[in-house]
Amino acid sequence: MLEKNEQFFVEIKDISEDGAGIGKTDGFTWFVKDTVIGDVVEAKVMKKKKNYGFARLVRVITPSPDRVEQKCPVARACGGCQLQSMEYKAQLRFKERKIYGHLTRIGGVENLVLPGEARSGKEGVAGEGESILEMEPILGMENPWRYRNKAQFPCGRNKDGKIVFGFYAGRTHAIIEQKDCVLGIEENGKILEIIGEFMEKFGIEPYDEQGHSGLVRHVLIRKGFKTGKIMVCLVINGDKLTHGEELVRRLKKVEGVVSVSCNINRERTNVILGEKMINLFGPGYITDRIGEVSYRISPQSFYQVNPLQTEKLYQTALEYAGLTGEETVWDLYCGIGTISLFLAQKAKKVYGVEIIPAAVADAQENARINGIVNAEFYTGRAEVVLPEQYEKNGISADVIVVDPPRKGCDKACLDTIVEMAPEKVVYISCDSATLARDVKYLRERGYQVKRVRGVDQFGHCVHVECVVLMSRVKE
Ligand code: SAH
Repeated sequence: MLEKNEQFFVEIKDISEDGAGIGKTDGFTWFVKDTVIGDVVEAKVMKKKKNYGFARLVRVITPSPDRVEQKCPVARACGGCQLQSMEYKAQLRFKERKIYGHLTRIGGVENLVLPGEARSGKEGVAGEGESILEMEPILGMENPWRYRNKAQFPCGRNKDGKIVFGFYAGRTHAIIEQKDCVLGIEENGKILEIIGEFMEKFGIEPYDEQGHSGLVRHVLIRKGFKTGKIMVCLVINGDKLTHGEELVRRLKKVEGVVSVSCNINRERTNVILGEKMINLFGPGYITDRIGEVSYRISPQSFYQVNPLQTEKLYQTALEYAGLTGEETVWDLYCGIGTISLFLAQKAKKVYGVEIIPAAVADAQENARINGIVNAEFYTGRAEVVLPEQYEKNGISADVIVVDPPRKGCDKACLDTIVEMAPEKVVYISCDSATLARDVKYLRERGYQVKRVRGVDQFGHCVHVECVVLMSRVKE
């Protein structure tokens, strides 16, 4: 038996849901991060459990045909891009299989087949009254690099005492320098360089967690991809930034920078943003568009990080909803109303429900600046607001769209959906396992899965978004 720190050879035959390669030696299962199906690798034992163990990649002996060179020199240390060694097309297949696996195993959707497999012999899988249901091909990115419109870099000093921006190494709070994440915008590097030089010049200290001293904790950068506008926000452990006007003068040299601000966070906490803002330059927000709808984004607002793919996601949801202009639609877990406003263009009326009051305020403001008058928003829990509105006010729904957080929908929410009996339920999810659990619940209560499609919002990362259309089975 292999013991801790021993090295061994293994062929990678499978991949776990969190992107680690899986191989076996003498029937014992190993998880090896940074490997790809088809690799033969040398690995080193890190940790062993009874039936499986974790090993670290030492070197690749025979590379898989799907293996590619990692673009980012610190990808392994960072750990944010679990799939960067895998060719992008293979990543998409991995994500389709992940959704497929969850919907068939957890969701019990037995008639489902992978894209392109409807005719390749999975006959006999369809249950009574069900025909084979082929997943639609995942919507991938044309260019899976530099797609993130938002980045937040912690600031500190490295071992040599130099001011650095980067990311936290593993579970520690040591900062590894990386100004140019390949998923982020090109401008990040230049902006951080300017801030670093400015801090050195005026003796402004980076934050030191241990001593809870120093000033600059994080730099938050956001860009509107459609508008080209950039916002820079320094999170500071203090009431003000001295020489702020000089920083603004320097940052304005970067094309697109229209907003510079500070956010005050004096707490000992891992939470990045505090509550109070100080505006140094510009309106304090930027705008961006998804489809025809404009959104106002401040440093604190929630906004999708990959707006180009988000548009494809919402387009898919809209297509699945099949609106004619006559429908009453509920958009549960609506955030800042992004999907609601998208749907409102094609529906008679849209009701959004969201738990965070600030997000609802943003949703209302976004409706206003777009001149959308047929969208109304409720603050509260979906599982409380929906039954209340249904039971007390008798509000109905032709289509219900849900886009819940990872943990999925509350049972009370699903039960109300069943009672309201909308023709269609469009379920958008960033976690296909909880999606599948909820799909099973609805399938057992009169709904049938009609369409399934993945949308890749996070290239090189293991996460994948998924849209499912369910229709009510007619009696
Ligand atoms: N549909 C939005 C946001 C989806 S993220 C978009 O596409 O932009 C999920 C949202 O659900 C978050 O905004 C979160 O605050 C909200 N949320 C979490 N639990 C909730 C609950 N029980 N009821 C209503 N909203 C909830």
